[in-house]
Amino acid sequence: MSMNYSSYLQHPVFKVASEIVTEEGLEAYVIGGYVRDLILGRPSKDIDIVVVGNGLDLAEKCAKKLRVKKVSLFQRFGTAQFVYKDLEVEFVGARKESYRSDSRKPVVEDGTLQDDQNRRDFTINALALSLHKDSFGDLIDPFGGMEDLENQVIRTPLEPAKTYSDDPLRMMRAVRFASQLNFKIERKSLEAISENAHRLEIISRERIMDEFNKIVLSNPPSRGIKLLYATKLLHEFFPEMVKLQGIENRNGKAHKDNFYHTLEVLDNISEKTDNLWLRWAAILHDIAKPPTKRFDEKVGWTFHGHEDLGARMVPKIFKRLKLPLDHKMKYVQKLVRLHLRPIALVKGHVTDSAVRRLLFEAGDDIEDLMLLCNADITSKNEFKVKRYKKNFEIVEQKLRAVEEKDRVRNFQPPVSGDLIMKTFDLKPCHEIGVIKSRIKEAILEGEIENDADQAYKLMLEIGEEIGLKISGKAEQ
Ligand code: ATP
Ligand code: MG
Repeated sequence: MSMNYSSYLQHPVFKVASEIVTEEGLEAYVIGGYVRDLILGRPSKDIDIVVVGNGLDLAEKCAKKLRVKKVSLFQRFGTAQFVYKDLEVEFVGARKESYRSDSRKPVVEDGTLQDDQNRRDFTINALALSLHKDSFGDLIDPFGGMEDLENQVIRTPLEPAKTYSDDPLRMMRAVRFASQLNFKIERKSLEAISENAHRLEIISRERIMDEFNKIVLSNPPSRGIKLLYATKLLHEFFPEMVKLQGIENRNGKAHKDNFYHTLEVLDNISEKTDNLWLRWAAILHDIAKPPTKRFDEKVGWTFHGHEDLGARMVPKIFKRLKLPLDHKMKYVQKLVRLHLRPIALVKGHVTDSAVRRLLFEAGDDIEDLMLLCNADITSKNEFKVKRYKKNFEIVEQKLRAVEEKDRVRNFQPPVSGDLIMKTFDLKPCHEIGVIKSRIKEAILEGEIENDADQAYKLMLEIGEEIGLKISGKAEQ
């Protein structure tokens, strides 16, 4: 039975494309992700239109009718693209691809719709809807993609082993779609991925990470990451994370499996935030546990300094994975370095100065740090978790109270270097830094308040102590 989806194609882009296609006697289809998402009821922002013939030509005619001024043409690839309102529309000529074993780049030639559907990665991504007036909205589904959508399975149109070895990126995409859509990967496909995992080596890090980040942003992300682990795809690009896996037992003392713990923390934080980098902080918070692991006869397993070593590992990991090396990396690094601090406050007696120091170091990322720490509370013992979270609330209250009083979160020195130089008639020198940092310490320790007058008084005392003379100008 053929199905018709014309009622779904209400957007002006389809109307206009249909008119032109019909006038010119062409064959063209909406295809791929857009159709899949339409049927699933997911929002999507890019439309792919495949034309049997010249894609550039149809793109220009559609753009003209829609009064879109700018059309990007990629002659060499036979594709064209423009933006209409909030949608990105891409036109491509139907093509046939054949792969040779020694290259990732296929040999491309003009083809039929069927050829074009054959080159697609998954049955659910090969669905096409006709744009010609006589068949407007008719579904062309040669591989049973509709059934797979209903049964929620990821399946390749052709032999999986060939699909994945032709373009190994598709293995990452399979896991990504499984994680985003909560679909199962068909058994044969899963086996082919496991067998071909090593072939990921010919794919650029950027493209791998595009898919990985989509997995990280899916909900819950652990589903996809567990699949990456099971198929050993994860081993190909992220060995540090793989090393988190495992439990060691000595003298009846076992530590927890840090891989599954990390996934739990990642899932927890994902319920609270879609910030990719905060999710990354969860992935990396315990990354240095394997290299810092020791066994102590008295206390059992320890991971001393894993937060500091972890923070030092962050730039290296970001660099290798071709993730941005800017403030985003610094942010992740900071959260990894500080991730134990709020918990330490929960455990010990909470002093104002410890709270002030944490506020000072975390700055505006304090809320994100608290989210991370809260997500880090995982235990099989529900009672323990409850008690921890209760204490945690006390720390949060304390943070708010101290910040209100002392405003150290965006600490600005209450005495400037300029004022110090004027007061003691100094040129820029080492002493200025000494005075500033002692004032800051005094504020953080609670010896004085974060207040200009008190800081000025302390500056004079320190100056006298280190033998500085007050300048004539300053005394007047
Ligand atoms: P999303 O837009 O959510 O990333 P999508 O399925 O639209 O999902 P795109 O990367 O936009 O993914 O690709 C559009 C279509 O092109 C896909 O639906 C699929 O038919 C095809 N495609 C993309 N990448 C590949 C690939 N590596 N191998 C085969 N077909 C692909
Ligand atoms: Mg898309």
